[in-house]
Amino acid sequence: MDMPLYSVVIPAYNEEEVIGETYKRLTAVMQGMGETYELIFVNDGSRDKTAEIIAGFCATDSNVRLINFSRNFGHMPAITAGMDNVRGQAIFVIDADLQDPPELFPEMAARWKEGYHVAYGKRVKRKGESWFKKITAKFFYRFIRRLTTVDLPPDTGEFRLIDRRVCDAVSRLPEKHRYIRGLVSWVGFKQVAVEYVREERFAGKTKYPFRKMVSFALDAVTAFSYKPLKLATTLGFFISLVSFIYLVVIVYQRFFTDMLISGWATTVGVVLFSQGIVLMILGLMGEYIGRIYDEIKNRPTYIIMEIVGQNEDDNRLDNRPVN
Ligand code: UDP
Ligand code: MG
Repeated sequence: MDMPLYSVVIPAYNEEEVIGETYKRLTAVMQGMGETYELIFVNDGSRDKTAEIIAGFCATDSNVRLINFSRNFGHMPAITAGMDNVRGQAIFVIDADLQDPPELFPEMAARWKEGYHVAYGKRVKRKGESWFKKITAKFFYRFIRRLTTVDLPPDTGEFRLIDRRVCDAVSRLPEKHRYIRGLVSWVGFKQVAVEYVREERFAGKTKYPFRKMVSFALDAVTAFSYKPLKLATTLGFFISLVSFIYLVVIVYQRFFTDMLISGWATTVGVVLFSQGIVLMILGLMGEYIGRIYDEIKNRPTYIIMEIVGQNEDDNRLDNRPVN
C-alpha cells in the first residue's frame, strides 16, 4: 500500500459518546486537505463500545486503522503506540474528545511546509474545565519550566503536528514513563507555536482524575529535573544554620540570664517538624527510585493485542518494534 502523507494519532479510552463525531470531524478536515492520510485510533483498553465503533469505521473506510491494547496503559503509552506505528511523513496527535480543534490541522501543515518540524498547539484559553484544573495546569507549566533546562513551552499539550524525523527520534527514546510533550521538546528540531482556544469536551467525562494528574505531574518533573533532589541539601543547610543560631541563644540564656529554658513543647515541635521534612524528602527520593526501578525492569510501555484495518498484511505484530 502506498504510504500516506499524513498520519493522525488518536488515543481513546472509554470514548463511545464522542468517537463517532471525532471520526466525522477528522475525516472532513483530512478530506479537505486533499492529500493521502491515515487515522490511527489507539484504543487504550476501553471497557465500553469504543473498539467496536472504531472497528466499524475500519470496515468501511480504508484510511482508518485501530490499535487495540491488551488493557488500559494510559494516555502517554497510547500516543507512543500510535507514533511507533505511523506511516505518514507528518503526524498529527489529537485527543479523542474534540477539546482540540482538528480544523487547526491545515494551519499546522502550512507551518510544516514552511520548514518547521513541529507545530504545537498553544492554548490561549481553556473553556469548560474546572477552575481547579485551570489553576493547577497554569501553575504546573510554569513550575516545571523553572525546574529544567529543556525549553518546555507552557500551556501546550500533546495536540500538534510533528515531522516524521521528530516522531522517529522520540520513538527511539527508550524511557518508560513518557512525558511526550517534554520528549518532543528535548529532541529539538525547528518548533513553532500555533495558538488556539481549548474547547469543552464534546461529550463524556475527563479520564484524568486527580490521582492520575498527580502521577502525570510527577512523571514530568522526575523525567526532566533533578532539582527536587537538591531540596534536601538546601533545606538541610538552612535548618542547620537556624539550629546553630538557636543553640547559641540557648547557651547565652543559660549562662548570662535568669531566663528559664522551656522544655517539652519546643522539643516535640522541633522533632515533629524535622521528622516531617525527612519523611517528605525520603518520599521524594522514592519517586525517583520507583521510576529507576521501572526503567531497569524494562517492561514494554504498552502491549498491543491486535491491529485492525488497512492492509492487514502490514499489521502482523511480529513486524513491529516493541517499545
Ligand atoms: N486517554 C487514554 N488513556 C487513559 C486516559 C485518557 O487513552 O488512560 C485518552 C482519552 O480518551 C482522551 C485523551 O487521552 O482522548 C485525553 O484524556 P482526557 O480528555 O480525559 O483528559 P483531559 O483533557 O481532561 O486532561
Ligand atoms: Mg480532554
